[in-house]
Amino acid sequence: MVRGSCLCGTVAFEARLPFAKFVACYCSRCRKASGSAHSANAYVSPDAFRWTRGEDRVVRYDLAEARSFSTGFCGACGAPVPHATRSGREIIIPAGSLDEAPGAKPSGRAHWGSRAAWAPTPADLPIEE
Ligand SMILES: [Zn+2]
Ligand SMILES: [Zn+2]
Repeated sequence: MVRGSCLCGTVAFEARLPFAKFVACYCSRCRKASGSAHSANAYVSPDAFRWTRGEDRVVRYDLAEARSFSTGFCGACGAPVPHATRSGREIIIPAGSLDEAPGAKPSGRAHWGSRAAWAPTPADLPIEE
């Protein structure tokens, strides 16, 4: 089990390990959503996830022009928090929200080809296109 929370602590959750997938994505949408060079998202199945605090303060945003891009954030502090994929088959956990070490690192870099010109190069991550 690994626990996480938002910046202000209003929203908290826990997820059962291991993650199904853990990826650093450099696409333009992940840059906008994260405010950084890349997202770092871990995936678990819905039965491996539960909110422990503040679920009613979670705000969901579905990007209209995207087939599947969505975000979740705390309505009090705006920090990214987990959200279900639109299919409902997976929960995406922004790894920066974790409060404990999950025992895993991102397996690779997605959409490296569309990274920001200023993105630093993580030498230890293979490129996933
Ligand atoms: Zn918050
Ligand atoms: Zn992305």
